[in-house]
Amino acid sequence: MFAAARTRTPSTASDMQLVETISEMRHVTADLRAKGKSIAFVPTMGALHEGHLKLVDEAKRVADVVVMSVFVNPLQFAPTEDFARYPRTLDDDSKLASGRGVDFMFTPTKEDMYPEHAPVVMVHPGSVGKEWEGAVRPHHFEGVLTVVAKLFHIVMPDVAVFGQKDLQQVAAVKAMVRDLNFPIGILVSPTVREGDGLAMSSRNRYLSPKDRELGLILSKALFAMRDAFGRGERRASALEATGWRMLERVVGLTPRYLAVVNADTFQRVNNVRHGDAAVGAVRVGETKLIDNIIF
Ligand code: AMP
Repeated sequence: MFAAARTRTPSTASDMQLVETISEMRHVTADLRAKGKSIAFVPTMGALHEGHLKLVDEAKRVADVVVMSVFVNPLQFAPTEDFARYPRTLDDDSKLASGRGVDFMFTPTKEDMYPEHAPVVMVHPGSVGKEWEGAVRPHHFEGVLTVVAKLFHIVMPDVAVFGQKDLQQVAAVKAMVRDLNFPIGILVSPTVREGDGLAMSSRNRYLSPKDRELGLILSKALFAMRDAFGRGERRASALEATGWRMLERVVGLTPRYLAVVNADTFQRVNNVRHGDAAVGAVRVGETKLIDNIIF
């Protein structure tokens, strides 16, 4: 059917097709559009877990065809970060994705995405990407927005689905789509958590049982802030103090930031309203965990 696509049949009984180059991906989606099919796109860096797969469920709900990308984007990692050791589990990923109903899995190489090594033109997130994750990871959101813009231009989906887990990323992508007039709808899917509350993440596999227990304090601190909001507390400073008290008494955990922000602008707020967010990040051992809740 998609003659232009070089494909490999995954090992599960499914008709998901792997698409390995930009030009093949363009042919596939051009063909779909010509047939009048709507396309939902789920960008990922692989090492798939239930959090990613819930995005697929959402994508399937809103479009005829689901394209997932798996690309560990070097541009969004600082030289000191874990690009080299980021988990790469393509065989498992393709089984999970096809089992969940992904139609096309796009796995471009770094050379295809960045033939000049680093692009000359990049997308700057402006004020949305300056604080919090943007402050602890300078240039991170430039890398994210640049790869998302490239992937949007390659796949040209009607809708793209992102996870609330990376809320500042969501705010930056929405701002890019708004300010640069991408004709793409952005859907946000709630954070999927383990039974004990830990937000699922590809990086959780690095955690020793002890570190995992320490990391869990981040979600507990965020939940305590949400509970205090539920009891009527509206001062951001008081809510932040509630969370900080919990993070600071844990030995072996390094808090990076914890703040109450407007979920669209990522500017700190003083008086907290429904729809604002508490965002936090901690480091346990070598692993950095981020999480958030929306009040
Ligand atoms: P990543 O592979 O970490 O770049 O994530 C790809 C997409 O999956 C992003 O939109 C993430 O926000 C989303 N995602 C990752 N973990 C979760 C989770 N626990 N719940 C919901 N979405 C998630």
